[in-house]
Amino acid sequence: MKPHKPGSRRKKIILYYTLAVVLPGIVLGYMAYRGMRNDQALREKESRRKLEINSQAFFSAIDSSFVRFINKQTTDSMLSVTGTGDPSLLAFFIRDSSGSKKLITHQLLYLPAELMTFGPGQSSRPANLAEGQRLEFAEQRFPDALRFYQARALKTTDPEEKIMALVASARLYNKMNQPARAKALYEEIWKDYRGSLLNGQIPLSLIAGLEILKINQALGESDEMRINTRQCLELMLHPYCEYDENQFDMFYKSFIEITPETDTVIDSLFLELDTQKARTDYLIRLLSEPDLVANSKNEMSVIPVNSAELSAVYLSWDENKGTQAGMVIDFPVYLRSLSDRLIQKIDPDSVLNVKIEDNNGNSVLSRVISEETGYISFSFPENLPQWKLLLSENRPGFLATLMKTGSGIYLFAFILIALLMVLGFVFTIYTLNVEIRLNKLKSEFISNVSHELKSPLTSIRMMTEMLHHKRVETEERKSAYYSAMMEESEHLSHLIDNILDFSRIEDDRKKYDFVEVDLDALLRKFLESTRESLPEPGFDIRYNRPDRVPAILADKNAILQVFYNLVDNAIKFSGTSRQIDISLFTRDKEVLFCVKDYGIGIPVKDQEKIFERFYRSDETQRMGIKGSGIGLTIVKKNIEAHNGSLTIESKPGEGSTFTVGIPLG
Ligand code: ADP
Repeated sequence: MKPHKPGSRRKKIILYYTLAVVLPGIVLGYMAYRGMRNDQALREKESRRKLEINSQAFFSAIDSSFVRFINKQTTDSMLSVTGTGDPSLLAFFIRDSSGSKKLITHQLLYLPAELMTFGPGQSSRPANLAEGQRLEFAEQRFPDALRFYQARALKTTDPEEKIMALVASARLYNKMNQPARAKALYEEIWKDYRGSLLNGQIPLSLIAGLEILKINQALGESDEMRINTRQCLELMLHPYCEYDENQFDMFYKSFIEITPETDTVIDSLFLELDTQKARTDYLIRLLSEPDLVANSKNEMSVIPVNSAELSAVYLSWDENKGTQAGMVIDFPVYLRSLSDRLIQKIDPDSVLNVKIEDNNGNSVLSRVISEETGYISFSFPENLPQWKLLLSENRPGFLATLMKTGSGIYLFAFILIALLMVLGFVFTIYTLNVEIRLNKLKSEFISNVSHELKSPLTSIRMMTEMLHHKRVETEERKSAYYSAMMEESEHLSHLIDNILDFSRIEDDRKKYDFVEVDLDALLRKFLESTRESLPEPGFDIRYNRPDRVPAILADKNAILQVFYNLVDNAIKFSGTSRQIDISLFTRDKEVLFCVKDYGIGIPVKDQEKIFERFYRSDETQRMGIKGSGIGLTIVKKNIEAHNGSLTIESKPGEGSTFTVGIPLG
């Protein structure tokens, strides 16, 4: 038979294990993984479909919101003519059948002449002030002129006349070198005449503001100038009355010229004014287009306005009998005011993250519940600015998703397979190692036992031959040969007993015959024969015992075997010492039997292992002490059969004490 190397056997088993378990495991694992991926793909498809429905609902909600918005603005503007309307409403106009437009409400900084409610020159200079003008301009009698204007301002009931009288008074204070008075009067005008126009075209407040600024400039009041300019620019940004572009430009230029020092607030106000001016210009151009109507069959046409100045929607619809109405809505402002309601409508359970980006990719609004990466982008429909709606579902955690969806089962299968494979692998390696170690021990055992059997047999054979050929002459020598042969055969018989017993114990065939045993008598007899058959002379085997030792229930042969194996070991491992102490005593409900030697001792790491079958410590083998490694295994099993105890105390180099306890009764 070809000898098997343990290494090649291990490799073979690992190969079989790989073929039988790992490969199918990998295939199963791959299938589970595919299952999970498919499941995920399905979920993603489903989620995309859901988001698409949500986006459509969102867009159609915007569409239908226009109708509501128009209705509300129309009603509002009918109720209060001067109301500025919704902040998103940039302009609301009516166009009659002749094609001329009338603005109902708007957010323009200034108006083109054709859209002005009152054209310039509609009001004329009140004739009552002619006298004052004569005194002031022709005769240069400033105090008289001032008195005249002041009297008119108090007396007149015509607001236009009063305004002109007040402005003329302030002007005269200036001419008469009384700047403080002029300033005070202009401040009064600034406060009281916010919405008024001089000559029906110039905003009175701005005139007053500019004059105050000039006076402050002359007086060198730079702090006050700064405040003045800010107030005037604010007023230009949020005008109280309509005026035309030329007026706007005139004031704009004057303020730029007179504001010498840099001031961040003023700079940003100018910047804002520039932006709003560009928007106003754009809006005016838009409103002056004769027919900006979408090619749609609906009653209302919705056209997107996408430009650098403005992102808006242009709504227009037929009012009645050729009259048309229209609105320009600031789309970002409109959408922001609407978004909460819209989002709530399409997503009442708050499971969506919503973002809106304008055509430059800037975020216009976002409602993010938990940040996700899987946003799906939907373009706004054609009638709205070309923005994007980004939606993503709020996903529960990875594990929660798995629990909720069917893929959980795949994952568990996956984990289970992986776990089983790893466990199987560890187990296989472990069993292999145990088996290989056992095999090694077994073959060692066989060689050890063969040696142990061989040496007594050889000496018996030698002595028998000598006796047979009558080479032993004296009777004394003959008798020594006989007793040596007896000792050897006794040793052989013990050895064989051990092997047979071991095999019975291994197969669970060992039977115990319990009878009353006088341990003291048994031990004394055993020691007597041991002392006679000692392998080497000079051993001092001492025996200590109390006066009376109670009898116990035990299997005599099994106990003898325990004695033999322990004492045999004590002799074998005595090293240079020649003393062995044996004692027998009772404690509590036990009879204790101690074998103490002063030999080589047992390292702590080996003290547990020496009871394992075939185990022999490295030290023992190194020293070449013979043995089979089953003696202590049999001792342990025999003691267990008697419900007894076995303890060991040992120190390398100092000796060992084995104590066996057998219960009484
Ligand atoms: P064997 O004595 O045949 O080798 P055993 O099972 O009786 O087998 O003992 C197992 C091992 O325990 C021994 O090989 C030895 O290493 C160790 N051993 C047992 N008894 C003693 C002892 N009294 N002193 C030192 N070592 C011992």
